[in-house]
Order: sequence, then C-alpha cells, then structure tokens
Amino acid sequence: MKKSALKELIFGIESASWMQKGKCRGLQTDIFYSEQGRRSINTAKAICSECPIRQQCLDYAMRNQELYGIWGGHTEIERKKLRKEWEEKALNDLSKT
Ligand code: SF4
Repeated sequence: MKKSALKELIFGIESASWMQKGKCRGLQTDIFYSEQGRRSINTAKAICSECPIRQQCLDYAMRNQELYGIWGGHTEIERKKLRKEWEEKALNDLSKT
C-alpha cells in the first residue's frame, strides 16, 4: 500500500472532527512525504504553518508513532528529535488532569 493511501486510510478511520479542519484536506497527500524531495517538504511545511490544527496533528503523529510523512509541520526526522520533549510535556499535561 502506498504511504499516501495509508495516510488517507488512517485519516478515514480516525475521522475526528479536528482532522476535518486541516489545511491539507483535499490536497494530494504525496506532498507530505519526503521522498517527493525538498521542494515538496517546503511546500508541505508552508501549508502546515497556516494550519489551525497543527498541534493536534503533531500530537496524533507522536501518539501513534507515525514513521513517515510530515505531520504537524514536522518531518519524521524532526519528530524523532522532538520525541523526548513531547513525551515529557504529555506526561506533565496528564498529571494536571
Ligand atoms: S498540520 Fe499539516 S499535515 Fe497536519 S492537518 Fe494541518 S496541514 Fe495537514
């Protein structure tokens, strides 16, 4: 299965209301995968930078350990670097509930 189809499948299954508000909705999902090249990454990041659900998208990708694509404006490599910081924040947020 192509990764773009997989992302569509995931979005389709997890059709939470926040996902409907993404700036990428209706766009070709291939834009959001780095194998399309640096230009595609820059395009995807520009779209994400104006997205109202950027944080929810990043949280979703981190929770589900998404290995591929740009989520919440971050590439897979950037998400790996963010992992520890994100987990600490998530634990901190949980302790407040
Ligand atoms: S942050 Fe980017 S990938 Fe996530 S929903 Fe928004 S536009 Fe789509």
